[in-house]
Amino acid sequence: MTTAIVVGSGPNGLAAAVTLALAGVEVTVLEAEDRLGGGTRSSELTLPGVLHDECSGFHPLSLDTPFSRSVDLAAHGLVWRWPEVQFSHPLDGGRGAAAWRSVEKTAGSLGSGGTSWRQVFGPLVERFDGIAGEVTQPVLHVPDHPLQLARFGLRAGLPAALLARRFRSAEARALFAGVAAHAFRPFGGLLSSSIGVALGTAAHRYGWPVAEGGTAAISDAMVAAGRRLGVRYEAGVRVESWAQLADADVVMLDTSPSGALRILGDRLPARVASAYRRYRHGPGAFKVDYAVEGGVPWTHEPSRRAGTVHVGGGYAEVASTERAVAAGRMPDRPFVLVGQQHLADPGRSHGDVHPLYAYAHVPSGFTGDATDAVTRQIERFAPGFRDRVLAVHVTSTAEFARGNANYVGGDIVGGANDARQLVFRPRATLRPYDTGVDGVYLCSAATPPGAGAHGMCGFNAARAALARLDPGLVPREPVPSDPGDAA
Ligand SMILES: Cc1cc2nc3c(=O)[nH]c(=O)nc-3n(C[C@H](O)[C@H](O)[C@H](O)COP(=O)(O)OP(=O)(O)OC[C@H]3O[C@@H](n4cnc5c(N)ncnc54)[C@H](O)[C@@H]3O)c2cc1C
Repeated sequence: MTTAIVVGSGPNGLAAAVTLALAGVEVTVLEAEDRLGGGTRSSELTLPGVLHDECSGFHPLSLDTPFSRSVDLAAHGLVWRWPEVQFSHPLDGGRGAAAWRSVEKTAGSLGSGGTSWRQVFGPLVERFDGIAGEVTQPVLHVPDHPLQLARFGLRAGLPAALLARRFRSAEARALFAGVAAHAFRPFGGLLSSSIGVALGTAAHRYGWPVAEGGTAAISDAMVAAGRRLGVRYEAGVRVESWAQLADADVVMLDTSPSGALRILGDRLPARVASAYRRYRHGPGAFKVDYAVEGGVPWTHEPSRRAGTVHVGGGYAEVASTERAVAAGRMPDRPFVLVGQQHLADPGRSHGDVHPLYAYAHVPSGFTGDATDAVTRQIERFAPGFRDRVLAVHVTSTAEFARGNANYVGGDIVGGANDARQLVFRPRATLRPYDTGVDGVYLCSAATPPGAGAHGMCGFNAARAALARLDPGLVPREPVPSDPGDAA
């Protein structure tokens, strides 16, 4: 029987394990930390009974993918829950903007910017199923939906700064800035719109759902599906050298390129080793989890109903803080992504005490304490917030890296999303998952399609491995399903 070892149990490692096991491969997953799940772990970080997502919180691009169609995660306990408002962006003085599932409702709330919102996102939403199928593959592939991909590319290829000019009101520009900032890069470069356009469109097509019971429910469901197929899981086993892997026919590395370099050493062809050494990581994250009594008193009312709140002021302010962070400077008022997962999944709260998730974009390897800056940013748009905080838990860039070797310098998206690495990730090749060592594949967020708890890097890498073993083993693409119509 063909055997495989998967190094790392993030969503990509777990998806790779399930995909290989579905094809009849005998799979073992080795995880360095003592809990499985990588960036999908959840726990009571602040107070008993108050459940926080340690990393990933919202999953617009996990809902309907070739991987999610290949395995019934709902049968293993995964339930999606939607907030009423998908994301919002408060501005000073109680103003702000909000994105609902409906493009029309969103556009209708954006004043003179509504028409442009409708023009940019409307045509993409209608065709997003095909587009999502394309953007979850390596960028260089033969598209099944070339026209839809071209339409997406016309917007996504632009610098975010240029696309932002189309939005005619301060509210619409701010709403776009918040979603574009998910790329963790300045707004001036080519393709800097791509992640914002994809996430903005996904908000209207799929919503930004959370997993009931915490994001860990995603990896728990993947682990349960894998167990049913005979996958074995060993936590607390850090793979440091090739000797731990040599017996397997296939090795999947859910690691950073530098992690692959450490494990594979001289086995890597020189050109691949050199590309992995040059692989660039992006800025870091500094996370503060709060236990908040009575929720956050946002002045901008729709933000009280939003799963995600982008905090950082108007378009120009967000653009400037993203530029500073990329240049290694910590802004006084950073961009902060706030998660109110409990609004969609009330079981995470304890009575009237709610978990609040907030992380600031900070320079790579930032060594300072951004706790107060994060709190001040929330207080700026929600006066009285500070008085409602009962407990706080902080994760610095160094702590992110200590808890997960893939988060180099606190980079939580698996590598800089610059134009080069959006197209060629982790190196310039048509076979991004190949390491150049026979039977060994990279399958982490450092490979296409990049960050997110969607498992698509692992799914694609496992299919590449199966195709090499025996093309007859690659399962046929499962049929698209309806992603549901909540909220
Ligand atoms: C604060 C934060 C917020 C985020 N928000 C979102 C969000 O809202 N939505 C979203 O979709 N994504 C989000 N993400 C990103 C998402 O979590 C990651 O992109 C995703 O987890 C990447 O999955 P992965 O399998 O590639 O790697 P990871 O989840 O990073 O897992 C890698 C695993 O490999 C293990 N490992 C590494 N090296 C070794 C080794 N040598 N031996 C054994 N084990 C090893 C690590 O311990 C880890 O468990 C967020 C991340 C963070 C940190």
